[in-house]
Amino acid sequence: MTTAPTTPPTIGVFALQGDVREHLRMLTELGVEAIAVRRPVELDACAGLVIPGGESTTMAKLARTFDLFEPIRQRIKEGMPTFGTCAGMIMLADRIEDGTADQETLGGLDITVRRNAFGRQVDSFEGDIDVVGLDAPLHAIFIRAPWVEAVGDSVEVLARVEEGPAAGRIVAVRQGSLMATSFHPEVGGDSRVHRLFVDLVTEER
Ligand code: GLN
Repeated sequence: MTTAPTTPPTIGVFALQGDVREHLRMLTELGVEAIAVRRPVELDACAGLVIPGGESTTMAKLARTFDLFEPIRQRIKEGMPTFGTCAGMIMLADRIEDGTADQETLGGLDITVRRNAFGRQVDSFEGDIDVVGLDAPLHAIFIRAPWVEAVGDSVEVLARVEEGPAAGRIVAVRQGSLMATSFHPEVGGDSRVHRLFVDLVTEER
């Protein structure tokens, strides 16, 4: 018989760029050990990783500069639960539309994302959406967000935009131990999406 570990897992937040603090606060409120990850040794301490919103082109370059790119990619390949929000979703995508010519991603999620997909007029907006696994709608905040243009067979769609010109577009996905949202669940006080991720990390231990 195996017993689940009782100590809370350590979850890292990729901290070279982006809205790191909001994720750290939310994870801490959920009772996990949340640490900022800027160096490989910090990544080694983590059972799971969050990649925040920010600017995906800058994140990829900084990850290279600070020798985090390959170690994170390796951990993802080995099954480390990883959750990307907005730019973090782009970082986890295997394919990008409207990326810069030399834009690299960590990959792992069998999806195609379109960067800055919602266009100029509606580049930042809010709306209520249903998310698989949550029992009531979530108020989602989109900031120059990507959407998911296409998903592979093993990707589960967790949420779509419900209203307006982008209705039907995929904005949350899961594939095995990887999760990603186009929106920013770390903004505002609703920690239910982070809870789903913490549960994923806890199950994988
Ligand atoms: N537009 C940004 C990018 O391409 C993502 C925006 C965000 O994370 N809020 O990386």
